[in-house]
Formats: sequence, C-alpha cells, structure tokens
Amino acid sequence: MNRGMCGERATNNVDEWVQVEACPVCGADSDSLQPFERVSHDNDATLTYSICAGCGTAFQSPRMSDEALAAYYAGEYRRQVQGEEGPTLKDVHVQGERARNLAHFLTKHLDHLTIHLDIGASTGAFLAETSKRFGCRAIGVEPGVAYRQYAASKGLEIYSDIENLPKEIRGRVDLVSLIHVLEHLPNPIAYLRRLRETWMSEHGWLLLEVPNLFGHMSFELSHLVAFSRDSLLRALWMAGFSSEAVLIHGRPRSRFLKLYIGVLARPGDRAPRSFPAAVDVRKARRRRRSANRIRRWSTRLVPWLVWRPLPPSTAVSELAIAEQPLAHQRADANSLGETTQHEEPCS
Ligand SMILES: [Zn+2]
Repeated sequence: MNRGMCGERATNNVDEWVQVEACPVCGADSDSLQPFERVSHDNDATLTYSICAGCGTAFQSPRMSDEALAAYYAGEYRRQVQGEEGPTLKDVHVQGERARNLAHFLTKHLDHLTIHLDIGASTGAFLAETSKRFGCRAIGVEPGVAYRQYAASKGLEIYSDIENLPKEIRGRVDLVSLIHVLEHLPNPIAYLRRLRETWMSEHGWLLLEVPNLFGHMSFELSHLVAFSRDSLLRALWMAGFSSEAVLIHGRPRSRFLKLYIGVLARPGDRAPRSFPAAVDVRKARRRRRSANRIRRWSTRLVPWLVWRPLPPSTAVSELAIAEQPLAHQRADANSLGETTQHEEPCS
C-alpha cells in the first residue's frame, strides 16, 4: 500500500492523537489491554503499542485521530517515505516480485477467477499478474494519484475509492485482495465484513498479506495494528471468514526472515484450529524481542545472506523506464550504484 512513516508535521500536534480504549479487533476493554512496546523513529514521535490479552493483536495507542489520518493520507506521505510521490524502481521491482509470489500461491489453491478486486492496488502489479494467469477482469482501488495514474497507464481498471466501483460487480467478486493494507486500518474487522457483504460472491476468496509481528519490525506511524499468525486468523474468523491456507515467508525481501503472513480465506464460520483461550503476553513479548534480535544481528553480521538486493529509490518517471522490462530496470539500478536495503519501514 502507498503508505508509510510520516514526518513531524502530522505527529507534532497532540490534539490529533487519540487513545484507543478497546481492542480494534475483538473489542476487549481496557482490562484486557497491556503495554507492549515503545518505538522511536528518526523525525517521528515515539510510538506506543499495546497488546490485547484476549486476541493477541498489537495496536498503536495513542494513534492519529480519524481526521488526522485522512489529512495524512491526503498529504505528502509518499514523498516523506521515499522522497517521491510516484513509483520508484524499488517499488516496481518489489511489487512485481511480490505479485508473482502471491499469484503462485493462489494457483496452488484455485484454478479459476472471473473478477479480482485489489484494495490498495498501488502500481497494479498484482492485478496485471492475476489478469495474465487467470484471464480474469482485474479491478483496483488506489487512492494515491501518482500510483493510480501509473497503474492506469498500464491499461488497468483502477478507481480512486471503493465507493466509485462499478455497481454491477457487487456480490460477484470471486477474489478480493488486501496486500499490506489491513495493518493501516483503524477498524479492520468492520472493513473486512463490509467487503464480504457488499462485493464478494458467496464462494469467493479473500487474500491478505501483512507484516509478521514476530518477524518484521512492524511498528511505524501508519501501522495501527500488527498481527501474528494466530491473531490474524482470529481476526478473519471474527470478520466471517474461514482460513484455508497460510504462508509465512520473507519473499521478495529476505531469504530466510519470516517477514510476512499471507492468508487465503473464504466466507465461513469455521474457527481456526490453534485458538488459545487467552494470550500469554509475557511470552509474546519474549518472542517479539527474540525475532527483533535475530533480524538486527543477522542484518549487522551477514546482510548479504539475509536480504535480497534492491534497486534504488529512484523515481520511475525520472529515468523514463516505465516501459522497460524488469531485467533492464535491474541493470540500470546496478549501474546507478545500487545499495542493499536492509530494513524497510513498511512492506
Ligand atoms: Zn483483542
């Protein structure tokens, strides 16, 4: 998704921050909420995360108010993240690789699609991939103007807002995907329920990918919630989905770190198999610290083994390479003095 860390402007005004009084996933009240972690980022306010002992979801509290979030996403967040509003070489490369990985995951579980709706479609790489593999109608929602224009320039059907989607696809979408989107939403369960009730066909599929609380650093200004495998499966169940397959992996960024959690689910009420009655918060803290330690030390000692090389964050438009095949983009990146990116704030 086209979202990332924000600079000082959006964070300095304390009036724009609100305390989260109930778990944003299961709704548990303050009795079930415990402090989890504090994180300081360069040029950012310190972020504080709590964890719900009921469902295991970590969440930012305080967080920006809904009004401040809207202003933030309407503003220059992308420029603040990467210095550019439009797609960069790195974006195009990562999203292309991610799209191929996810499409491969899909093909193991389904062989037919008619309509794919991708929320937070970004450059449209995933839509292009499913359209090619399944011959389906591929439709995206992307609020970022520069990214939407980029996707549209590739011939993709892209809308700025879910409200603008064509009415004739209501109840007919057989794949909805949210790739690095759910963690940005203040009310993820309500959003998933609306997607299911409004857009999905009865036997449709939902594909999610989010950062892994026990693998990815996860905590940044725009990440309002952070999921583990168990808390994500529980969240899906609460939204009226039964999980069919889970993929925990590092592709395309890392060779062995378990950075991401992908889940394929369908409408249903089957509870996840691993469903602890209560979450052991002390154990979750230990697990998180251990994962962070492994990521930091392996990055420091053997970065070439841990991280795959990336092109630089150079704007695609700047190099006029939008129409070049990826192999050429990689060659250009190397000639520009590529540096390995070790840690990313977002996807
Ligand atoms: Zn909860």
